[in-house]
Amino acid sequence: MPTIAQNIQEIEKQLQNRARLIAVTKTKPVEILQETYQTGFRRFGENKVQEMTAKHDVLPKDIEWHMIGHLQSNKVKYIAPYVSMIHSVDQFKLLKEINKEGRKNNRVIHCLLQIFIAEEETKFGLSETEATEILESAELTSLTNIKIVGLMGMASNTEDNEQVRNEFRHLKTLFESFKKYEKENVQMLELSMGMSGDYPVAVEEGSTLVRVGSAIFGAR
Ligand SMILES: *Cc1c(COP(=O)(O)O)cnc(C)c1O
Repeated sequence: MPTIAQNIQEIEKQLQNRARLIAVTKTKPVEILQETYQTGFRRFGENKVQEMTAKHDVLPKDIEWHMIGHLQSNKVKYIAPYVSMIHSVDQFKLLKEINKEGRKNNRVIHCLLQIFIAEEETKFGLSETEATEILESAELTSLTNIKIVGLMGMASNTEDNEQVRNEFRHLKTLFESFKKYEKENVQMLELSMGMSGDYPVAVEEGSTLVRVGSAIFGAR
């Protein structure tokens, strides 16, 4: 069986510096994260506040922590001191809470708007209209302790590669069109799309950040 280091190396080779890899370590024990850290890797993704914070507390402090799961407003305070990027902003209310906690910690927290692109009811995310409302809101300008640095999306869980490609392409189009809203705290730099099953397609369609778990660590 290939090692974690070999899997990461193989995926990074495929990415060809077009996108950065986030190793999704959710449900994996701290020892596995330590092993990954020892290969020189520093970019970890988790989907639960409690789990991420417990791991953060015991691991070296030069790790970049990416929150990729649905986030409740009342839990933002636990990750605000250290989180590198929150990929899963799906409500304006949540963005305001992140701003409040960013201010308390004297930092600017980088966020992605999560857009609903799949043909499935089970996935979180903003509609195009809801995202536009946030980007056009006058109140957004006053949120100086957050920065919207791009978009995140999850494609449908289907074998139909053309459907997946179309969903990613749609998100990329939206990403480009949202550049008209760029200002002090809005810049379309990062497009977080692609997981173990679909990251090659995502990168072809313009992803800059892929979130890969099982292709590195095995099935959960
Ligand atoms: C679990 C998860 C991933 C990684 O999924 P794999 O299929 O294991 O690569 C990526 N993004 C999000 C939001 C996740 O919850």
